[in-house]
Amino acid sequence: MLSTLLKYIEEKHYCPHCSGDLSLCHAPPVHVGDGLGWGSEYLFICLNDTCPLFVKGWDYIANQYGHVGSYRYMEIPNSKESYSMMVVGKEAFTGSIIDIEDVKRQNVRYQQQQDALAALDTCVEQKDLTPVMTLLLDDSVSTDDRKRAVALLVPLNDLACIEPLRSHAFKDAHLEQEINLAIGQLLANHFMKECPFCTELIKARATVCKHCQRELAA
Ligand SMILES: [Zn+2]
Ligand SMILES: [Zn+2]
Repeated sequence: MLSTLLKYIEEKHYCPHCSGDLSLCHAPPVHVGDGLGWGSEYLFICLNDTCPLFVKGWDYIANQYGHVGSYRYMEIPNSKESYSMMVVGKEAFTGSIIDIEDVKRQNVRYQQQQDALAALDTCVEQKDLTPVMTLLLDDSVSTDDRKRAVALLVPLNDLACIEPLRSHAFKDAHLEQEINLAIGQLLANHFMKECPFCTELIKARATVCKHCQRELAA
């Protein structure tokens, strides 16, 4: 969850062994030790390679268990639980560090989507195409919300929507079909059509395209 992640990103956790910052990571799918889940999607882990726990762990595990491994200090978010977690190499967990900048970008995008959704109710009245386009051109928006936006294309009656919609590669074929229908309706309402050769908008009655000069079938 984005909101959970945003909260954890703001938290500071320190390793009691080296005083270094703990890194926020995705939890592995199962508890390495006993096969149970962690009860959290995220873990705070000390990934400092000079942390005494990690440095001394290699000898300890070799002596105690006779195999290669060491320990990383770890805390479970929203709990007082901490563990010395066995790892088999330096790289364990380094691939699961949360990309904080990416989470912040996702949040900005999420806020823009929420603002656009809130603006749908008044956008026709205000002749504002922007919220509709924000939702239609963002493939991370839910299908239901994008369908609400499609339904406003004809009432908005703004031909400026056509070019960006035609240029966007829609992953949802059904949504694209609905958009094409709306564009067709919009063009008909304006007595316009798209030139099949150069895609410029021209009068529906035109027999020659005024942009590319090609003859159009009647
Ligand atoms: Zn440490
Ligand atoms: Zn043309």
